[in-house]
Formats: sequence, structure tokens, C-alpha cells
Amino acid sequence: MSKLLSDLIEALRCLPGVGGKSAQRMAFHLLERERERGLKLAAVLEQAMTRIGHCSQCRNFSEQPLCALCSSDTRDRQVLCVVESPTDLAAIEQATGFRGQYFVLMGRLSPLDGLGPEELGLAQLTQRLGEGEVEELIIATNPTVEGEATAHYLAQLARAGGVRPTRLAHGVPLGGELEYVDRSTLAHAFGSRQLLD
Ligand SMILES: [Zn+2]
Repeated sequence: MSKLLSDLIEALRCLPGVGGKSAQRMAFHLLERERERGLKLAAVLEQAMTRIGHCSQCRNFSEQPLCALCSSDTRDRQVLCVVESPTDLAAIEQATGFRGQYFVLMGRLSPLDGLGPEELGLAQLTQRLGEGEVEELIIATNPTVEGEATAHYLAQLARAGGVRPTRLAHGVPLGGELEYVDRSTLAHAFGSRQLLD
């Protein structure tokens, strides 16, 4: 196998769930049948990797310093929903009629993986909560062990900032991830969120 071909296969392995065999199949597929779209993929990938950064306010992916959601004047700035990932944000946007703003942790508290308050941008969140504009913090971390520990920590931050912390109601299965919950269940859990005490 040529050096370039093995480099391509090795590079494709960075995708989630892609092992050696799948990477090899993808590389051959691109070379045999999808040259043009493969080139397009390479070009878009380069653009995206260099131009997409993080919103300075909510930490979601954004090409602008402030994302469209944060700069929109039709979103309610008094209700802030904390999610673990951009995927969870998208799930809530699609399933619910939520009109507030978000804060994206880009992870969850996980000391073993080196993810602490600093990596999750919690100083930034604390500052936002301290500004007095936010009244309710909807904690929509996943109902996993780490997600619950993160929720507990966030609730403390909220209370310290004089903000009411709420948590999605049950219905999202324990150990489940928001992105895999069907829309109506998520909409219901979101709508009947409860005050955390
Ligand atoms: Zn934003």
C-alpha cells in the first residue's frame, strides 16, 4: 500500500466509530467512486476547521464572535438553558418551543477525562449569572452519572448568583442522552421542568 493511501486511511480514523477496516473502505470508496465529492469534502473540511470557532457568549460553534442565537433580539435573555453539546442544543431547538438562550458546556464534569469547571467555561457562566439578567437556569445536562453531578454543581452556581435552577422532568430515561430521546418525550420533559432544591 502506498504511503499516501495509508496516510488517508489513518486520517479517516479520527472520525467517531471508525476503525481500521471502515477507514480503509471509506478511502477506497472515495478513490474509486467519489473523487469529485472527495475533493469537495477536503475543501469544506479545511474551511470549517480553520473558520469555525466558538461563540464568545454561549461557547457554541460559530463563525462569528457572537453566534446568531446570542445576537438575536427575539430570544429571551432571562432564561438560560445549559446543555452539554451542540447536538443537545439542536435537539432542544427542534423538539421544544424554547425561546431563551443557551450555554454550551462542550462536555460535562469528568475529572478522569480532565474535564473540570475551567474546561467547561464555568467562570464565564458564573459571570453571566452574576450580571443579574438571567432569572432561570434550565439545566439540561444528560441524566447520566456525570451529567447529574454536573447538574448538581450548576445548581449551586445558579443559587450563588441568585438564579432559579430548574431541571428537565423525568421521561428522559436515566443514563440516556438527550440526542437519542424522541421529540415528544424531550418536549414534555422540557415543558415540565422542575425547580431544583
Ligand atoms: Zn452564542
